[in-house]
Amino acid sequence: MRVWVLGSGSAGNAVLVESGGTRILIDAGFPVRELAKRLSAIGVSGESIEGAIVTHEHDDHVRGVCAAAKKWKWAVYASAGTIAGYPLLKEICARPFVAGATLELGDLSVRTVRTPHDGTEPVAVVASSRATGARAGIIYDLGHVPASYRRVFERLDILVLESNHDEGMLRAGPYPPSVQSRIGGAYGHLSNRRAGAFARDCVHGGLAQLVLAHLSERCNDPEIALRSMRDAIAPTSFRGAMSAARQSEVCGPFTAGRNTRAVIAASQLSLEL
Ligand SMILES: [Zn+2]
Ligand SMILES: [Zn+2]
Repeated sequence: MRVWVLGSGSAGNAVLVESGGTRILIDAGFPVRELAKRLSAIGVSGESIEGAIVTHEHDDHVRGVCAAAKKWKWAVYASAGTIAGYPLLKEICARPFVAGATLELGDLSVRTVRTPHDGTEPVAVVASSRATGARAGIIYDLGHVPASYRRVFERLDILVLESNHDEGMLRAGPYPPSVQSRIGGAYGHLSNRRAGAFARDCVHGGLAQLVLAHLSERCNDPEIALRSMRDAIAPTSFRGAMSAARQSEVCGPFTAGRNTRAVIAASQLSLEL
């Protein structure tokens, strides 16, 4: 299994998951021209992607999906609430599911799980390879971590996890109090501290890749997020690689398996633990 974060942050999110000849996209929050550019940077054609799962209706996750679906004939899947919240998805005949459903897409079995976020019916996903059993969790846009997540996201090989903001930088930052409350609230975005607490619970010796995602450009910094995570999981058995995904460039591939290492772009911040 290979995973690329095509970009992540409040200006757009898209994650490519590939396994056994199946390619799917989790979110397509970039304009189609930008998506094409980022896919071509890693030698992937839009036509080779079977479909996209949209996690929720916020623009930074859904922006390019309708045009891309028309252009490249993708099947698009979204929760019924997400389709209701973004009517264009209905026009392209997006296939509805209920948060919690498992979608079977070629070699990939994708379990969806409801996230606490201010969308209508937002989800995170666990994508499992039928051929190898490799598992990738992709979790962003959530204000807190429900207790049930420890079980849902256990035994992952790859974890892409929101580490949105430093709590001190959010308090001291440029946002008015109402926006600060939304971002830091229980249905907003996950802080570095909360991401670290969750990772401490769910990382294990077999986790090969931990990728921090959806970093705020105003209230976070890749080095601060990585440092915070490294400190949080220091007591665990984690022996994999840790990276911070970027808004402006593709990161990956992150490869599952005990004897593999990610090929990490030279420009990408990375800490080997
Ligand atoms: Zn978002
Ligand atoms: Zn959102």
